[in-house]
Amino acid sequence: MTWHTLLVNLNTRSDYIDCGYLADLPYTRILGREGTVSTMGHQVKAKCRDCGNIFTVDHGGGFAFHLLRCDMCGKTKAVGFDALGELHLRYLKGLSGPYCVASSEHDRNIREHAPVEPISEDEYSRGVEAVAGNCICGGKYTLHAPPRCPKCRSTRIEEGESTVCYD
Ligand SMILES: [Zn+2]
Ligand SMILES: [Zn+2]
Repeated sequence: MTWHTLLVNLNTRSDYIDCGYLADLPYTRILGREGTVSTMGHQVKAKCRDCGNIFTVDHGGGFAFHLLRCDMCGKTKAVGFDALGELHLRYLKGLSGPYCVASSEHDRNIREHAPVEPISEDEYSRGVEAVAGNCICGGKYTLHAPPRCPKCRSTRIEEGESTVCYD
């Protein structure tokens, strides 16, 4: 699942299933408190069609952080919801349902009680990208940048099976 589809399909069934795997974890862990940032991403093996380099590509993030990618070199950067503060609250406020099952009660509380103005997905995406800032290579971290070969920066890469699930 790419970030694009994750953002577009926040309330789809597949997102619910993804989050459901961690539903029995302690609530505080799920929300990334106690200094732990839970991740729901996965890695795939990839091969560059231009230079033949073999590497791994990280996909996704979770309900505690977003994974952004540099639009020039493809390097990833995680931005925790904690770091977004009110921006994330305003986004939850604007959703019609919970962000995911694991945090549904928390999310409903925010929708019903948080004294913040809701924002659209576009506004939220721009805000997340502003928090992530720029990569040291001069590129900009975005939610929709494609993965790149770390060696030659080509986007012509072939992705294989998902190899590692991490949390
Ligand atoms: Zn390459
Ligand atoms: Zn970069």
